[in-house]
Amino acid sequence: MLKSCANPQCAKPLHYLREGRIFVFDAVRTAGDGEGMKAHRMEHFWLCGACSEIMTLEQTRSGVRVVDKVNLRMRRVEALTKRDLVGQVLAS
Ligand SMILES: [Zn+2]
Repeated sequence: MLKSCANPQCAKPLHYLREGRIFVFDAVRTAGDGEGMKAHRMEHFWLCGACSEIMTLEQTRSGVRVVDKVNLRMRRVEALTKRDLVGQVLAS
């Protein structure tokens, strides 16, 4: 953990924390005894300077993945547009 860039295509070794960006995610793991005990654990990830310019990290059900910032922005715009359309339909 935190030894290299979180982007598997890059995997640049981490030497200086001042470069790039650190991401912290709250990872919930169910304990193995089956009694519903959940352990919260902070997981740290690092994207190097070059990767953090164009990429970001996103937490999904299956774990943390690297996403293109442009794609993420487009998805958000899409979501906003859909909401606005719904608003217009409701207002008319
Ligand atoms: Zn990188």
